[in-house]
Amino acid sequence: MQIKKLITLTTLTIFILTTILTPIALAQTGIITGSIVNVREGPGTNYDTVGSIQKDTETTVIDTSDDWYKIQTDNLTGWVAEWLVNINEKLKIEVDRDLVNIRTGPDTTYSSLDQATKGDTYTLIQDQGDWLKIRLTDGSEAYIFADLVKIIKPENQEPQEKDIEILRKIEVTASSVNLRSGPDTSYDKVDEVSRGTILNVISEPKDGWYQVKLENGDTPYIAGWLVKTIQEETSTPVPADKIPTVLINGEIKTFEVDPIIENGRTLVPLRAIFEAMGAVVEWDNDTRTVTAVKNNTVVVLPIGSTEPTVNDEKWELDVPAKIVQDRTLAPLRFVGEAFGGEVDWDNDTRTVTIDGDTTKHNPKYVNVNGDEVELRTSPSSDSESIATARSGDRMIVVDERDGWYQVSRGGRLAWVEGWVTEVEGDDEKEAEPVETPVDDSDKPISDKESLNLSGDESAPVSDGKINISTRLTSDGYRLVMKTASGITPDIVERDNGKKIVFTFEGVKTRDGRVETSFYLGSGRDERIPINAITRDDTTWVTVDMPKVYDYEISEEKNSNKQVFTIPSQIKTIREMTLRNGNHVLAINSISEMKYEEKKDGDKLYLDLPGTYKGAADSNYRLSGAGASNIDVNQSTDPVNTELKINLKDIKDYQITQSSNKDAINVILFPKDPVIPPSQSEPQDEKISVVIDPGHGGSDPGAIGYSGSLTEKEVALDISLMVEEILKEEGIDIIMTRTDDTYVGLYERAEMANDEEADLFVSIHADAHPMSDRHGTTTFYYAPEDRSSLYEQEIERSLLADLIQEELVEQIRRMDRGTRQANFAVLRETEMPSALVEVAFMTNPTEEELLKKDSFRQISAEGIANGILKYIDLMLDK
Ligand SMILES: [Zn+2]
Repeated sequence: MQIKKLITLTTLTIFILTTILTPIALAQTGIITGSIVNVREGPGTNYDTVGSIQKDTETTVIDTSDDWYKIQTDNLTGWVAEWLVNINEKLKIEVDRDLVNIRTGPDTTYSSLDQATKGDTYTLIQDQGDWLKIRLTDGSEAYIFADLVKIIKPENQEPQEKDIEILRKIEVTASSVNLRSGPDTSYDKVDEVSRGTILNVISEPKDGWYQVKLENGDTPYIAGWLVKTIQEETSTPVPADKIPTVLINGEIKTFEVDPIIENGRTLVPLRAIFEAMGAVVEWDNDTRTVTAVKNNTVVVLPIGSTEPTVNDEKWELDVPAKIVQDRTLAPLRFVGEAFGGEVDWDNDTRTVTIDGDTTKHNPKYVNVNGDEVELRTSPSSDSESIATARSGDRMIVVDERDGWYQVSRGGRLAWVEGWVTEVEGDDEKEAEPVETPVDDSDKPISDKESLNLSGDESAPVSDGKINISTRLTSDGYRLVMKTASGITPDIVERDNGKKIVFTFEGVKTRDGRVETSFYLGSGRDERIPINAITRDDTTWVTVDMPKVYDYEISEEKNSNKQVFTIPSQIKTIREMTLRNGNHVLAINSISEMKYEEKKDGDKLYLDLPGTYKGAADSNYRLSGAGASNIDVNQSTDPVNTELKINLKDIKDYQITQSSNKDAINVILFPKDPVIPPSQSEPQDEKISVVIDPGHGGSDPGAIGYSGSLTEKEVALDISLMVEEILKEEGIDIIMTRTDDTYVGLYERAEMANDEEADLFVSIHADAHPMSDRHGTTTFYYAPEDRSSLYEQEIERSLLADLIQEELVEQIRRMDRGTRQANFAVLRETEMPSALVEVAFMTNPTEEELLKKDSFRQISAEGIANGILKYIDLMLDK
């Protein structure tokens, strides 16, 4: 007994020594045994993951350290835990005949390198059927005909040991824990582990005990309540700081499932990106296939396949698409480029940029109305039937020809006769306006939204925890309090409804405290603090509103989500009579408003569905010519505010909405306008506009991405073009500069004030440290606490809105909206003023555009059109 044990020990020692000392342990082939294995920067789980690798992948082991192997594949080098790689000696072959040719390739047409003799042995690299790939003694690879050799098993192989599958990893959470020979404290203690030790679990828990596999091959048991499951080595989430940022047309996209890196390839959520690119995505569960359609492009991607098709043309992928948490992840380049996008990867910032057309595809669907309908390979009843559809089946239409529809079904394209189908929504379609509103989900997150975005409401929450998140949605400002078990809180209103306190029993916030805020309105100046505090096992969430706002409380997902919403509600309704006698009714909300208008006789009904009456009065009266009464009423189910405007003395009206959608202006044109005496001017006086080219002289303004273009040059050129257009319309133009000279900011405002100009428009190009930032913004300034400016709030915001709208219409860059900003030229000018940032100098694409004469010309036209529209509505008689 004693002796036997000793012998075993000696054998083991020799074996270990051999492994360490023999140089062939290096540069050996290793086969990955875990299903998906993380590859790390260094030999330990504390190192970052550089990628992952799949089971059965052949790798070259180039170094070892402790229990780790440094491995190399075609596109990945890094460290893998030793127990996940099988580098035991490979299978060998023994040559069975004399004079067998060893060739350079798997075919007799390849040249012969050498001739082997019976009894010669070689390492087998790969069995290719008739031919075997082998390694010669000099390390090179060659081929030999399989029938002429026999495969021999290496010695010392213990296959049953290697086959044990590691289910997951656990970490010891108690300071010292016994390992026992069985799943019960009555079994012998065989070892002891300390807190932080990571163990590999090899069986599902038995009575709360895990069986684990130790490095020495032993498989003892450990109590399940003294350990916690840690992220499995076999799953491949990217560490938080390594999650790639995805920008689509310069705007950050967030996903419910983060991108991952696999075999050195970035996999991104397919549906979210395809939808952002405007495509319609369908999932067929039977064939586990994703089909995405946009206009005439059809992408078909079966899960697990490395050969998706784009319009029937095969694309090769390095790694297949896979499902992670119910979401399909697919290689980035494919996802970005399938619909014609341009994809770029910046390794330093780990940023993925996808640029392309994101116009939404409005798909057409057909419903089958025949009992059994054949789906065929071409639009002809002679062609082969590849599937059958039944009455009520709904399919997306990809193409049409000769009365047939090409449809997508289960990842395959087929043709169906038009007369056995009904096109969905056919009659409605015709009535629809040409311009369909853009879907909200496509809208990039603006700064305003991101300011109101904290936490992630889709993130999972563990038992005993509460997750707090906020975001701005089209329904308003949304606060989500999420618990795993769906705890219904106690809700109390304090301070006359300004303070709402939610009490959650039995849950804690992650760090004991959460502080976040809502920032309301386009000026984002009204802050609503939200605080969550945990004491013992109770968490209080407090919303502290500076004034009473309408709010809604609801439950979602079987009460897992307690949702507090401050919905759209009117902040102010203001009216003014313009110097041309027109009236303006300006309705401002704290967030987006939708509106519907309906004229009935001499009444105009303006409905704001989903918007509360909020701070609005019930009645407004416009006096003077075209006097009008306006009633404001709110219904609650559903929430709707209705404005009834009397048009008895009004000959016409026009409604404008700000690009932020939080302001609506109704401009009323009286039948007999009377110019208010205080604002009347000599009949022949022309309208004068100050055009202010930003920067100049010693102040170059922003420098372009490439380093050559200056903002002062762009601003001057566009300004001179605006001047020319407006002069032709008979408008007096005052330029603050006409050449490359320096003019101070106050000087610019003073020039406009001295001339008593009607409008002031400053022209700039934007800059940002992040080169992906792009788009068009127009600023104005009329804060509530500066009365002289606030008096012009309607005019200033409308000037900015009209310039922004017309400019974006012309240059088609991203609409970043209108904003308030305390710029000297906006603050110091006494007339309505706006400052436009045409596009970003610091964005390579937009810099190229800003260099172009044609782009400057359409920019000038857009700005001029906005100014002209303003003059038409607000100033012209
Ligand atoms: Zn500037």
